[in-house]
Amino acid sequence: MPKLTFLGAAGTVTGSKHLVEAGGKRLLVDCGLFQGEKELRLRNWAPLPVDPKTIDWVVLTHAHIDHTGWLPRLVSAGFRGPICANQATCELTRVLLADSAHLQEEDAEHAARKGYSKHPQPLPLYTTEDAQAALGRLKEIPRSDPFRISPEFSVRGYDAGHILGSSSLELTITENGHTTIVVFSGDIGRFDQPILNNPRTPPHADYLLCEATYGDRDHPAGPVEDVLAQLINRVAKRKGAVVIPAFAVGRVQTLLYLIRKLEVAGRIPSLPTFVDSPMAITATQLYLAHREDHSLQFTREEQSNGDPLDTHDVRMTRTVEESKRINDVACCLILSASGMATGGRVLHHLARRLPDARNAVLLVGFQAAGSRGRQLAEGAKTVKMHGEFVPVRAEIVELHQLSAHAGQSELLRWLNGLQAPPRKTFLVHGEPPGLNALAGLIRLRKNWNAEIARYTQTVELE
Ligand SMILES: [Zn+2]
Repeated sequence: MPKLTFLGAAGTVTGSKHLVEAGGKRLLVDCGLFQGEKELRLRNWAPLPVDPKTIDWVVLTHAHIDHTGWLPRLVSAGFRGPICANQATCELTRVLLADSAHLQEEDAEHAARKGYSKHPQPLPLYTTEDAQAALGRLKEIPRSDPFRISPEFSVRGYDAGHILGSSSLELTITENGHTTIVVFSGDIGRFDQPILNNPRTPPHADYLLCEATYGDRDHPAGPVEDVLAQLINRVAKRKGAVVIPAFAVGRVQTLLYLIRKLEVAGRIPSLPTFVDSPMAITATQLYLAHREDHSLQFTREEQSNGDPLDTHDVRMTRTVEESKRINDVACCLILSASGMATGGRVLHHLARRLPDARNAVLLVGFQAAGSRGRQLAEGAKTVKMHGEFVPVRAEIVELHQLSAHAGQSELLRWLNGLQAPPRKTFLVHGEPPGLNALAGLIRLRKNWNAEIARYTQTVELE
C-alpha cells in the first residue's frame, strides 16, 4: 500500500517535505528549509529521518526556499535522482538556491568575524558548490500537461497563483494496478490580484494535503494603494526612508508595480527606489520574461514608458559597494530581502534606519514566529542583529493585503473546486491557530474528514 510521510511543514509553515512511497520507490514532494524558531532551524542540521540515497525523485511545487532550500543538503547526503519542476520554477530555483547558499556562507563568515557564534569556526549549512550540485539535478517538466515520472508516479501541475511558476500538484500513484490520487496544494496564492493568474484547483483527490498559512483569518480588504501612498507621503515629508523587507520573488515585483502606479497617478513623489537584492533584480527580469505566466495588463502608458515593474527612479544595486552607498541617501525607498528579516542585506538597512524616528519599516508578508519581522510587528523596543541590540524608533507599519498566500475564504474557495470530498484531508504548512481553524471549518462546513499532519507521521494511502 502506498505511504505518505510528513517530514516538514507539519505544525509549522516551513521545511516542506512530503515523502510518498509506492512499489518500492520513493518520491519527495518539495525539500524546504526550516526557518524561524531555533528549535526548527536545528532540524536543518540533523540528518533526514529517511536516507536521501533511497529517494528516487524530487518534485517541486514552487521555488520558495521553504520548499527548495534543503535540496543542497539532500544532494550532499547522497540523493542522486532528478529534481522535477516546470520551467519557471527551475529558473527561479536557480536564483533562490544560489542566493540561499551565499547567505549561509555570509552568515557563517560574519559570525566567525564578529565572534558571536558558540562555535569556534562556524560552518555554513551548505556552500555555493553544494547548491550548484543540487541545481545540476533540475529537470524541466511540463507546466500543466501530465508527466509520467515512472510506472508508479505521474504528476500534473495546476497554477497556484502564489509566485511565478507555482503549482498545485496532482500525483497519480499506481501500485498493483490500483491508482490513488494525492493532491499537494503547495502554497495557494490570491484570487484577482495584480500580475499572476488565479489559483486553479485540481478536480479530484483521494487524499489532499492543503496549506493553512492563513487558515484562521482573511486578509484585510482595504485599499493597498491608499495605505502605501499615505505612508510614502508621510515619510517623505519628514525626509525619512521606508525600508521594506520583501521576499525577493513576487512581493518586490508587486510593490514595484504599485509604486509605479502611484507615481504615474501623481499620488506620491518619485523617490529613489532601491532594489537592494541581486536576487530580486534577477527575479524581476524573470517575471518580465515569463509573461505567459501572468495576467498583468499593460496599459498604453506602461508600454510607452518601459517596464511596468520599474519605478521612475529605480536603482538596482547588485554590488556590496552600491548597497553601502544607499546609507548616504536620507529620503528613499529601500526594497531588500529577506522578507522576514531573518538574513540578507535588509539587516544592514534595518540596523542603520531603525534607531531614527523619521524612518519607517513596512512589513508586507507573513512573519513567522521567532523572526525579526515578527518581533518588529509585535512592537519590540530592540531587535538583535549581527550580535548587537538595535533600538527601534522608526515607525513600523504592516500591510497584510499584499500577502502571497490565500486568506481563509480564498482557501475555502480553492477547496470548493474539488468535485468530490477527498477520503482524507491533511492540513500542512501552517502554525497551530491556522491549522486548527481550517481543519474545524472543513469538518463543519464541508463535512470532510480533515486532520492536522504531524511531523514524521506516516499514513497508509488505501
Ligand atoms: Zn511559497
